[in-house]
Amino acid sequence: MSAQPYYSQRLGTICAQLCPSSDYNMSVTQTQRDETGHADSAKCWNCKTAVTGTHFCAACGKIQPLPAGTDYFAFFGLPEKLSLDDTQLESEFHKLSWKLHPDNFVRATEFERDLSLNRSSELNDAYRTLREPISRIEYLLLRRGLRKEGTTKQPAPAELLEEVFELNEQLDELREARAEGGDLAALRAPLEAAQKNFQEKLEEVDAELAQIGREWDAALDSVADEAKQQALLARMNVALNRRSYIRNLVAGVQKELAEA
Ligand SMILES: [Zn+2]
Repeated sequence: MSAQPYYSQRLGTICAQLCPSSDYNMSVTQTQRDETGHADSAKCWNCKTAVTGTHFCAACGKIQPLPAGTDYFAFFGLPEKLSLDDTQLESEFHKLSWKLHPDNFVRATEFERDLSLNRSSELNDAYRTLREPISRIEYLLLRRGLRKEGTTKQPAPAELLEEVFELNEQLDELREARAEGGDLAALRAPLEAAQKNFQEKLEEVDAELAQIGREWDAALDSVADEAKQQALLARMNVALNRRSYIRNLVAGVQKELAEA
């Protein structure tokens, strides 16, 4: 694969520098490091030719260990951008699935079979993560150290506190009426209105995230300084937390209405 090897290498380096301890590092096929700490990924293990792609040696065609710090974007030879061509990603996924498939390595050495097996499972993880716009943002923030895996519970954003308080009261009334066999019909309308309101807010956050994503991509294009990148990532993180909070809220109301 020869698509944008420059980006692959550059991003690999950036991520190795920025997220040395990220738990999202693909750790299966770490390359050897020399005494300066740099990944010794420059030469093919088989024919010793310089390797320019991510997965195979261009000279002898042998599968290569993944360079240390390779992230899911680099895995696909993509820059760390949030706007992705879905069709291109899918076609690259199918192409790589075929090339890395263990069936192609049945007569290869155990070393190569292991590489193929690990790489195939990493490929699936990488594709699943990158194909959804929201998990793509989450992954970027994970890599850049702004998010930790499994932290989904978010505090209520300050500007929503009042509305959330009101919503919780309405939900309490509904549960009470349900328990006591009271009239639910009258209580449904305000909850349905609240649900619609929060659904609209969710769409606003999605639009906001898309906008920040465009700014992020532009910042990468213009090689913006670290401070500017960090500011954009922080904005993304706030918007994503807000989104996750509102999404849980909408799901909660939906559930209560369904049971009412
Ligand atoms: Zn080679």
